[in-house]
Amino acid sequence: MRIQFWGTRGSIAKPGPSTARYGGNTSCVEVRSASGTLVVLDCGTGAHPLGQKLMSAGLKGMRGHILISHTHWDHIQGLPFFAPLFVPGNDWEIYGPKGLGQSLREALAGQMQYTYFPVTLDQFGATIRYHDLVEGSFEIDDIKVSTHYLNHPALTLGYRMEADGVAVVYCCDHEPHSPILATGQGEITGQDQRYAAFIDGADLLIHDAQYTAEEYPAKVGWGHSPIEYAVKIGQHAGVKRIALTHHDPLRDDEAIDRVLESVRARLRENGSPIEVFAAVEGQTVEVEASVAKFSEHPTGEFQAETRIEQAFVRRSLLLGIVDPHVTAVLSEAARAEGIPTGFVSDSDTAQKLILEDRPSLVMLEHDVPRIDGMEICRAIRRDLVAEDDTKLPIIMVAARQDLPAGMAAGVTDWLIKPFTISYARTKVRAWILRAACHWMKASVPEDEERRLASLHELSILDTEPEERFDRITRLAAAVFDVPIALVSLVDKDRQWFKSCHGISATETSREVSFCAHVVCNRETMLVSDTLQDPRFGDNPLVVNDPRIRFYAGCPLILADGSCVGTLCLVDTRPRSLEGPDVGLLQDLRDLTVQELRGPDRFRGT
Ligand SMILES: [Zn+2]
Ligand SMILES: [Zn+2]
Repeated sequence: MRIQFWGTRGSIAKPGPSTARYGGNTSCVEVRSASGTLVVLDCGTGAHPLGQKLMSAGLKGMRGHILISHTHWDHIQGLPFFAPLFVPGNDWEIYGPKGLGQSLREALAGQMQYTYFPVTLDQFGATIRYHDLVEGSFEIDDIKVSTHYLNHPALTLGYRMEADGVAVVYCCDHEPHSPILATGQGEITGQDQRYAAFIDGADLLIHDAQYTAEEYPAKVGWGHSPIEYAVKIGQHAGVKRIALTHHDPLRDDEAIDRVLESVRARLRENGSPIEVFAAVEGQTVEVEASVAKFSEHPTGEFQAETRIEQAFVRRSLLLGIVDPHVTAVLSEAARAEGIPTGFVSDSDTAQKLILEDRPSLVMLEHDVPRIDGMEICRAIRRDLVAEDDTKLPIIMVAARQDLPAGMAAGVTDWLIKPFTISYARTKVRAWILRAACHWMKASVPEDEERRLASLHELSILDTEPEERFDRITRLAAAVFDVPIALVSLVDKDRQWFKSCHGISATETSREVSFCAHVVCNRETMLVSDTLQDPRFGDNPLVVNDPRIRFYAGCPLILADGSCVGTLCLVDTRPRSLEGPDVGLLQDLRDLTVQELRGPDRFRGT
C-alpha cells in the first residue's frame, strides 16, 4: 500500500512559517492499494490539495472511498472543497460511524447548510453513497477494513486496512483509556488491551500524538494521545512503524523535532526495533510486506469481534432479477455474507415471500418488458404500509437511474449495471448493515404472577430514595466509570428505579425496558453496542435520551426465586465489560439483594 499525508495538523489548520515543514492542513491521508483502490482517510483541510492532485490527473469516472473517523470539524472541513465530489460521472462512497439521532449524511450536510457554505450537500455532481458504520469489518474492493471505537468525546472509529499482505491502521482521535498509560509506563489492560489487539502487528500505525506526557494531565478527557502512549501501545502490539500525526496547533516545527528526538533517544536506549516518525504534509510512505517479521507478532489478520452484519444474518435477501449473470453475482455476494436468498419474478410471489420470510433487503431488476421492477416495488410497498413495516430497503438494479420514478415507487437506492462482484458484495453488505432493525419487547416470564406478588410484598415500590441503595449505585458508577447506574424494579407495566444515579427519571414503561429482558432470562445481560443489537437498535431509549449505547444488568433474585429487577450500568458510548468486572458487578448486585431483603431479615441470616 502507498500512503500519502495531505493533512497532519490537529484541531485547526495552522499555516505559516512556524509549521511550514510538518504542514498546517488538518487530517487527510490518501491510501492506494497495489491494484489502485483509492481510500481517503478523513477530509480535513488537507483534502483540498489532494482533490486538486486527483483532478489534475484528468481521470474520467473516478472511483474512491472516504473513511471518516468522526465528524469533528478538523476531519470533515475539507469535504466541501474536495473537487472530485463535484464532477458528474465520479463515484464516491463515504463511510463513517453510525451516529445517534442523525445519519452520517445528515451530519455532513449540517456543515454545508446555507448559513455556513454556499453549496449544499445535494449539489455535489458525483454519485455519492453514504454508509453508517458500527464496529466490525467489511471490504472495499481488495482492501479488508476493520473498525474499532476509539476513546474520544465524539463517536469515533479507528480503521484497520489490510491489503497486499500488509496492515495499515489509522487512529485519530484517541486517548488512553487508562490515564496511567499516558506517561508510557504502566500495564496495558482492559479497553487499552482491546485497542492493542486492533492495531496488532500493523506494518504502519498512523496515530494521534497531539500531546506530550507532560502536557497530558491538563488535557485528560480531550480525546487525544500523548506521544508516549502512542509509542508504548505500538510497541506492545508489535507495530513496525508509527507515524505520529494530529500535531498540536501550538507545536511548531522545532518543537516537533525536539519531541521526536527525545522519543527516538529513549527507543535507542531500550534497543527497540520500532521506527517512529512525525508525519509530514506531502510525505509518501510505501508499506510493503517485510521479509523479517517479528516472531511474536506476525502480521496476522485482525479478527473483528463481530462481523458487521452479524445482527442481521438471521434474515434474508430477496432477489427479483432476470439477468442470470446479475443473479449469479448477487447470490454469490449474499452467500459470502452467509445470508439466505429467496427469488421472485412477479408481484404476487414477492408479496407472499415478504410476509413469510421478512427479508432484510430486496433487490429488484427493472428491465421492461422482461421484468417490471418498479411495479413489484410498488406492490411490496403497498403491503408493507398495511403491515406497518416501511423501513425495508428495496434496491433497484437497472442500466439507468430514474430518480423521480424510483422515489414514487419507494426505491431506496440504485445499483447501476454493469458492476463487479466485489462492488456488489460491498453494496449488499452496506445495505444490509443499514437495514433498520426493530427493538424487541421482552417476553413476560412464566412465573410473572408470583414474581409480581413477591415484588409487591417488599413494599418498596414508590418509596423515597434511601442511602443504603444510593450508595450502591454511586459506587457502581464510580467503579465502572459509567454515567448511569440503577436499581431497577420491573413492575407490571413499568420499571421503577429504587435508586437512580445519573438520571432524573424514576420510571419508564416496561415496553422499552432493557431490564425486563434480564428479568425474563434471569441472567446477567451485557449489550456492548445497542446499535449492533437487533433487540435494541431502534429502542426509544437508544435513539432518544438517554441514548443508551452500553448496558450491563444483573438480575435481582429473591430467596423465593422471584426475579424482581436488576442492578444495571448504562453508558452513552459503546464499551465492553471483561470477566472480573462482571464478577464485581455481581458482587454489588448481591449487596443490593441483601438490602432488598431488609435490615431485619438480613440480620437473621
Ligand atoms: Zn481531530
Ligand atoms: Zn475530534
